[in-house]
Amino acid sequence: MSRRWLFADQLGPHFLDDRKQPVLLIESKAVFRRRAYHRQKAHLILSALRHRAAELGEQAIFLRAETYGQALQKVREPLEVCHPTSRRALKFVRNRDGVTLLPARGYATSLADFADWADDRRGALRMEAFYRFARQHHGVLVEGDEPVGGRWSLDVENREPPPKNGKVDVPAPPMPKEDDIDAEVRADLDRWEREGIRFVGRDGPRRFPATIEEANARLRHFLRHRLAAFGPYGDAMLSTDPWLAHSMLSSSFNLGLLDPLEAVRGAEQAYRTEGAPLASVEGFVRQILGWRDYIWHTYWYFEPTWRNSNELGARRSLPAWWNDLDADAVDAHCLSDVLAGVRDRAWVHHIPRLMVLGNYALQRGFRPSELVEWFHTRFVDGYEWVMTANVVGMSQYADLGRITTKPYVSGGAYINRMSDYCGGCRYDPKKRLGEDACPFTAGYWAFLAGNRDRIPGNARMARTMKQMERLPDLDAVVDQEKRRGSDPP
Ligand SMILES: Cc1cc2nc3c(=O)[nH]c(=O)nc-3n(C[C@H](O)[C@H](O)[C@H](O)COP(=O)(O)OP(=O)(O)OC[C@H]3O[C@@H](n4cnc5c(N)ncnc54)[C@H](O)[C@@H]3O)c2cc1C
Ligand code: SF4
Repeated sequence: MSRRWLFADQLGPHFLDDRKQPVLLIESKAVFRRRAYHRQKAHLILSALRHRAAELGEQAIFLRAETYGQALQKVREPLEVCHPTSRRALKFVRNRDGVTLLPARGYATSLADFADWADDRRGALRMEAFYRFARQHHGVLVEGDEPVGGRWSLDVENREPPPKNGKVDVPAPPMPKEDDIDAEVRADLDRWEREGIRFVGRDGPRRFPATIEEANARLRHFLRHRLAAFGPYGDAMLSTDPWLAHSMLSSSFNLGLLDPLEAVRGAEQAYRTEGAPLASVEGFVRQILGWRDYIWHTYWYFEPTWRNSNELGARRSLPAWWNDLDADAVDAHCLSDVLAGVRDRAWVHHIPRLMVLGNYALQRGFRPSELVEWFHTRFVDGYEWVMTANVVGMSQYADLGRITTKPYVSGGAYINRMSDYCGGCRYDPKKRLGEDACPFTAGYWAFLAGNRDRIPGNARMARTMKQMERLPDLDAVVDQEKRRGSDPP
């Protein structure tokens, strides 16, 4: 049996054909020199790789080198490798003699099945349509060809504001216990920093699974204790509770520790045998079988230049306070708390990413390519393949709607409805002009005014645009936001 070379995001058993298959693992230091990663992300990647090497023992050759190329020079036998997760790595693998490339693993639907589905369709390749295909293809939450419960998406039932008592009533997710490997990783990272390798964000206890066992434990706990509340509070934000009922499993899926289809089957079983509410189960299944796979497939299916789209002409460089995660420089309560979450944990959930960070960046005209790099390096689950659709497409609308029907831009009213932030803020979400004008509310109107000729007209945007044109103080709001510029709000 050939030796299987596993990249650091292919660590689970589903990347092997046999439990005893010989393995090659490589730790490349150059990866950490190329970009400034969040310290906790670097820790997690190294910890996961080293834990897997320790688990496999003599079954694995584990090489630490400056580059992959240098490590591979030490391996004399033929290798096989599953399709890597970035174009750069794919090119590298394809150019190596003696390395056989295998189909991708770690996603629910194969690249070939997605391409067949997409080639057969005319018009937009929307997530909702792919999700329906994937549910039928894998027979998940269906009866015959029809969805269980009669509707494919129960999203409308899943948009509750946060509970008034400031807490979603679920037990906290199990946190990993650090061990000697983590201590060694921490010491190595300290030394690398002294040598000049730059990291961002604060160090902290490892909060995300580094082993298959830790990831499975978190998944089991989530399905049993937290899944029921996942649906209703999926969009809510709380200053007192960053996790709410989210699974905190993205880094485990993306490191390859967990098989997404197994998690989907586990959620379906929770519905069928343990009475978990359908809206929550469907919501979780949609995130993984729908969104995660869709994001992965579009990265490969669409042309590589998609990543560089900038159709709104956003040219402002990321300011230093944003780059350095300087939450203390920011007064706006929502943005300050979310930025602090990135600084302290390298993770915030989907809505702070989309409706606070992404929304603010879109309103201010931050350059999408810089934002791609920012999200990639600052988040514990950030990878090249996730960036194009999530950041360029969904969050920044830089492709004018290839995967969304309108820009994800909103004023303070949305944040006020879905969080407890505004009560403790020096700004007023209802005000767009003046000393206490909410930067999100004012930024929203200024963004629409500045992009009125670029945003394609459609029914969903027409009403908003009309409303904007009728604002009596629009010019003053635009001037005010021009003056605010890139300063921390
Ligand atoms: C601007 C922006 C940047 C993002 N960057 C990343 C990223 O770098 N890596 C990443 O994995 N996700 C990213 N996401 C998607 C999503 O925010 C995270 O997957 C999620 O917040 C992770 O927390 P969780 O595991 O608790 O997820 P849950 O809310 O519990 O969701 C369950 C799982 O669904 C998957 N999922 C849901 N939505 C998406 C999505 N849009 N794209 C990919 N997977 C999804 C994840 O694997 C996640 O673990 C981004 C979203 C936005 C708007
Ligand atoms: S008032 Fe505006 S800036 Fe303050 S928390 Fe609310 S949305 Fe954020």
